[in-house]
Amino acid sequence: MDETSFKDLGLSDELLRAVSEAGYEAPTPIQAQAIPYVLMNRDIMGGAQTGTGKTASFTLPMIDILAQGRARARMPRSLILEPTRELAAQVAEQFDIYGKYQKLSKALLIGGVSFDDQDKLLDRGVDVLIATPGRLLDHFERGRVLLSDVKLLVIDEADRMLDMGFVPDVEKIVSLMPKIRQTLMFSATMPPVIRRLADQFLMNPKEITVSPPASTAATVSQSLVAVDHKEKRNALRSLLKSEDVKNALIFCNRKRDVSIVQQSLKRHGFEAGALHGDMDQFQRTDTLEAFKKGEIRLLVCSDVAARGLDIEAMSHVFNFDVPINADDYVHRIGRTGRAGRSGRAIMLAAPDEKRYLDMIIKLTGLEIPRLELKDVQAAVIEADTEAPRTRGRRGGGRNNKPKPSSNGSEAPLARKAEADAEETPKAPKARKPRVARKPTQDNNNKFNEGSPVGLGDHVPAFLSREPK
Ligand code: AMP
Repeated sequence: MDETSFKDLGLSDELLRAVSEAGYEAPTPIQAQAIPYVLMNRDIMGGAQTGTGKTASFTLPMIDILAQGRARARMPRSLILEPTRELAAQVAEQFDIYGKYQKLSKALLIGGVSFDDQDKLLDRGVDVLIATPGRLLDHFERGRVLLSDVKLLVIDEADRMLDMGFVPDVEKIVSLMPKIRQTLMFSATMPPVIRRLADQFLMNPKEITVSPPASTAATVSQSLVAVDHKEKRNALRSLLKSEDVKNALIFCNRKRDVSIVQQSLKRHGFEAGALHGDMDQFQRTDTLEAFKKGEIRLLVCSDVAARGLDIEAMSHVFNFDVPINADDYVHRIGRTGRAGRSGRAIMLAAPDEKRYLDMIIKLTGLEIPRLELKDVQAAVIEADTEAPRTRGRRGGGRNNKPKPSSNGSEAPLARKAEADAEETPKAPKARKPRVARKPTQDNNNKFNEGSPVGLGDHVPAFLSREPK
């Protein structure tokens, strides 16, 4: 660990007080390395993934830099570009926490929020403007904001901007700014396009990398469960029961699957929320708040929606699908094991996802240890047998008693097929029609889903809805 203390970094007393009240004892490596350079007005190219404390590595020095001077109407003095609304909102929150002893005005320009309120703030003049690229350009085109006074620019999560197709917007925005300015750019990974952008936007930057690009935090214990697509929901439930899940994000690759998985979990008595890009801002905010407060412990989400989530002490991340883009794996599992805490990341992988899995292994340079589904299921059955069955079953009388049956019995298979058919609103086109399956015998088969033994319906109390 870094021995540096916050006092060594050159920050003001007001900031040191706010940081200590935030409960931070020592700067994280990216903070220790970046803050002194930002205070020297150097450009920075920061290679850091979420969870490293990178947000404070730019917000803290910015607060001190901006303490001098005043903002003029519609001419913000600094700009932070974020790829998603959630991430932007979170950065704004951090400004409130760290800037509480300094008077700085800020505005958050994100989609889904009324233009009027945002215009009013801009008219008064803001020191810090935190924005997503699209909404910022909307305001610019309506003549509500000028970027010619921006002296400090932060481009956060540059690789995600790239993934989301925001690079042209970012280039346009930068072209509207003065050439003489300080620019800080952060990216978890450094593909060639990001390198090119860095050359274009930054002047003699100080390069700081706190962990190798696309490395996964050592604090996250990872596992992989090999399972067929049709068994994934079943496997997920087993994992939720067998793992000590305090709160978890469950990532799906497709928006449609976010809803399907959430509905399926709810049907099985788990209290789960959903977050995806098609929801309006109010729904997203409400769901996020409920999750942050611990009112719901499971959140099924897409990559985009979960991008900005910063929940302290998230115990688990489940990858319901193997992410198609290997970088996303790093981002997803970076939602747990944050700020030195331990976390758990479990991925469900079907045989046809092997090529994506190979790309993840190539990128991170790490094999992901295997977890056998049959062992998980056995643990659930054991727990179920021991646990007093205090909760009534839901779901209108489906026969789903725990079945500590032997592996491969046909009856649970049939029931499982029934449950699956019921859960999927529309059968996805790509799937083969359901045919009677042979009882699984070969449990050693690498990509065998394991025997679909009947699982108990005992849902740990903290994950379930209260009985009516
Ligand atoms: P970030 O990588 O910026 O998303 O930050 C990850 C989490 O670490 C956030 O919840 C921060 O509040 C927290 N954090 C940032 N700096 C520190 C620090 N020096 N000590 C402890 N926690 C921190």
